[in-house]
Parts: sequence; structure tokens; C-alpha cells
Amino acid sequence: MGDFSDKLLTWFDQHGRKTLPWQQDFSPYRVWVSEIMLQQTQVTTVIPYFERFMQRFPTVESLAQAKLDEVLHLWTGLGYYARARNLHKTAQIVTEAHQGCFPATVEALTALPGIGRSTAGAIVSIAGGGRAPILDGNVKRVLARCFGIDGWPGQTAVAKALWAKAEALTPTKRVADYTQAIMDLGATVCVRSSPVCSACPFANECVAHSEGLIDELPGRKPKRATPVKQTTMLVVENDDHEVLLKKRPTDGLWGGLWHFPECDEDAIEETLANLGFESPASVTRLEPFRHTFTHFHLDITPVRVRVEHALNAIGEPDQLWYSTTEPANIGLTRPVVHLLDLLETP
Ligand code: SF4
Repeated sequence: MGDFSDKLLTWFDQHGRKTLPWQQDFSPYRVWVSEIMLQQTQVTTVIPYFERFMQRFPTVESLAQAKLDEVLHLWTGLGYYARARNLHKTAQIVTEAHQGCFPATVEALTALPGIGRSTAGAIVSIAGGGRAPILDGNVKRVLARCFGIDGWPGQTAVAKALWAKAEALTPTKRVADYTQAIMDLGATVCVRSSPVCSACPFANECVAHSEGLIDELPGRKPKRATPVKQTTMLVVENDDHEVLLKKRPTDGLWGGLWHFPECDEDAIEETLANLGFESPASVTRLEPFRHTFTHFHLDITPVRVRVEHALNAIGEPDQLWYSTTEPANIGLTRPVVHLLDLLETP
């Protein structure tokens, strides 16, 4: 296919995005944070989060010194919270074991929590100008379509073929621009549905375009029915406009975030009694709603419980009364944010 990188760089010089916040003041730290935020999340959503994050944590040291609660607070709404926990852990390792400097090789970077081969490639190539391929979702799509690489990229053989192609195409010069260019082409032209092939530098050679395979490439994950789970969330409110929150265990779902107490539908009274609320002033079931994770749906029945402040169970270290009028800087789960918004609406 002629010279892939030359064509791509010519396109990038004319049409590529160069004003995104993480494209200014390149540093391994900024590239790393942006790459982690951009995993599973759209650019337009990421921009305000990235700017707030950089304002609060301008250096890897400042992130390392922060409390995990504050990091999770700034991440609230971005989802996939393991990313934030790994970000915090990696910042501490880079600060303590590497004197605040990110390692310069893909091998050393991938040894850090939450950094895969593609993110490591982006840090090496964009921040350091080293020759290292990347293969994020956008790049997989461009390569699968351009070169007709069939199959779901989650399968080892397909991933291997895509990595081999990415490796062979990465040039030795202008690697930082090339890396940004291929991500950009995937994000703005070769988009998932209805790519703008008329604006693509590879329109004449692309296999998917010439053979009518755009909808088939890249191949989709084989479908499985998404399981549905149920839970009841207790929104316990006291007279001081505070709600009772519990901290989730660090490992697992919503790890380290603050959340409403949960129980089975038929164990509401028992759970309230265990929390120290044997005779609440009122208990009202609210409209159920669904929260969807990658691997399952969670059908949530919220139950609003009004109690007097004197009756509380706040001796526990993993519980707190969260003021809805003067909110603390802590990371909240999505259902907590959703329900607090709902309860505030008159
Ligand atoms: S020609 Fe169309 S399908 Fe092929 S790489 Fe370009 S935008 Fe994607």
C-alpha cells in the first residue's frame, strides 16, 4: 500500500487535530494520564476531566501524594474506576522507585499497574519520539479495514496479526506525529459507523472500502446474553440533609468508592436494624432503575429511609454521613450521583 506512513503524515499535517489539551506541553506524565482517560471514553468527555486533573495534579509527584479518595472524586463520572486506582498506584511507584521519571522503554512501562503495550507505545513514541507501535481501539479499526484483517481483535491470533501490521508500518522518523495521526484518523474519519472514506488518504487501497466490508471489519465479539442481577439500595437520610454512605472494598466492583448500603429485597428491616435504625421515621420504595456494567446489568431498587440523626451507626471507619448541602471531596458511585440528583429535584 504505497508508503502508508508518508500518506498518513501528509493527511495529518493538513487535517489532524493538534490543539487537544494533552497535545500541549508534551510529557510522559500528560500523555500517560490522557491515554488512560481515553481508554473506553470519548475525547469530548475526557477534555474537562483531563483539564481538572492537570490543574489539581500538575506533576506525577502531586498525584502520588494525593489521597485515593480525591483521585476517585476527580474521576467520578468517567467510569472504569480501576483506571484511577492504577493511576494512583503507578504515580507512587514512579515517584518512589524511579525518582519521578517514567521509564523509557515499553518493557519497563508495561511492568507498571494499568499500563498495557499500547499505552506504553504511546508514551514512548509521543513523549519520547521513540519507535514503538500502538494499537488502541481506533488503530485496530483503521488497520483491520485498510488491510482486510478479519476476526474479533480480542482473539489472540487476530491481535497478533494487528500488532504485526502496526509494528511493520510504524516509521523511524516523525514517530510522535505518526502515532497521533493514526489515532486521529480512527477517531475522526474511519469512525465505527459511517466512516468518511471520501476524506481518507487510503480510500483507493482500503480493502474494506473496495470490497464493501466496512460493517464487517473489525470483526465483532461473539454475542452472549448479558446477565441481569438485582439489588436494593438503602438511601438513609437524617434530619441534617445527610445520607449514609459506606466505602466499597478496594478490590472489586466500584473499589474504593462511597456507596449506599445494599441488601436483598427481603432483608431491608434486618439490614436497617444492623445499621442501628430499628424504627426509622419512614421507608419508601422509589422507582427501580438499571445500571449497566461491561459484563452485566444491575437492576436497582432504591429505598428511601428517613431517620433521626441521633440514631446512627457512624462508629465504623468505612461509613460516613455525607452532607448533600456541603459535599465532601470523595469518589461516589454512579448510582449514588444519580439518586442524589433525583432526590434533589423538587
Ligand atoms: S477508506 Fe474508509 S474504511 Fe478504509 S480506512 Fe479509510 S475511512 Fe476507513
